[in-house]
Amino acid sequence: MSEYKVPKVLPTTVVGSYPKFPIAKKALKLKEKGQISDEEFEKMIKEAIRMAVEDQIKAGVDIISDGEQRREDMEVYFAERMDGFVVGNKPEDWVRIFDNVHYRKPIVVGKIAWKEPMTLTDWKYATEFSQGRPVKAIITGPYTMADWAFDDYYGDKKQLIIDLAKALHKELKVLYEAGARYLQVDEPALSTHPYKEDIEIAKEALAIVFQGMSDAKKIVHICHGRVEKLFPDILDYPVDQFDLEFVNNNFELLPVLKEYDYAGSGKELGYGVIDIHSKKVESKEFIKDAIHKVLEFMPPEKVYVKPDCGLKILGDRDIAFQKMKVMVEATKEVRKELGYEE
Ligand SMILES: [Zn+2]
Repeated sequence: MSEYKVPKVLPTTVVGSYPKFPIAKKALKLKEKGQISDEEFEKMIKEAIRMAVEDQIKAGVDIISDGEQRREDMEVYFAERMDGFVVGNKPEDWVRIFDNVHYRKPIVVGKIAWKEPMTLTDWKYATEFSQGRPVKAIITGPYTMADWAFDDYYGDKKQLIIDLAKALHKELKVLYEAGARYLQVDEPALSTHPYKEDIEIAKEALAIVFQGMSDAKKIVHICHGRVEKLFPDILDYPVDQFDLEFVNNNFELLPVLKEYDYAGSGKELGYGVIDIHSKKVESKEFIKDAIHKVLEFMPPEKVYVKPDCGLKILGDRDIAFQKMKVMVEATKEVRKELGYEE
């Protein structure tokens, strides 16, 4: 594999999901109906992953993802593959999380346990033709897995979260042992419960999930809610980077980070500069301006430029691609302005 040099300042990345390619949608639908062989299903999903990887490389993104083409969504995908959950498939099993995003709410009916790798195949496959670019390993976090399920077994949120953390640790460990060094745990539900107790439980859970992976980048993605309320409490989380949204809150999170001396915490920042709720492609000037805003208090070595959240929600491959492309172009110009050669 050729060596790819991730820029030392302002590397670009993605949160993870990419609009589903028609071939992936078709494969998932056929599988649900039991009308496809395992071989055919694998072939179609891999084709979609390959295209997602190629788009990211073509756009020039430094640290990429597999596009999460196999995942129906970020909750059910994992629940269906662990012990302890059942996931219904009747109309009444569908609930809304936000916007027009619906999913089947899993029910916890027994002790949670990891069974076998859930994301390794796709991470490995994406890595095969990432042209040396690092591929982020991305899983849904224990807090969110618990929050978006019905608990019919534990009757104790913390115990459920801790068992989920132990199970998800095994998943992350498999990825780490396979060579993944950018490890991201998605915790969008945390910002909807920005309370001391929840923040503490999530912290304990993340320490379990990331245990023993000290030479990897440990990243937590949080979005959708009152992220500002999590500060300053989350600053002592055992992670290297918070991956956050900024366009969606009109950059109102910036003064919060400044106030709580985010830079002083030594943590890196995944900095969202692309709106994933709008199909309008950002201008280069908008993105450059956004980057300059964060550089007022963050060193460029600690800032990762990326969209607010997963690009899947855009539902349109061309727009997602254009957005990544302009993000990379704008970032390259800022790097140059700062005196860093390509
Ligand atoms: Zn998100």
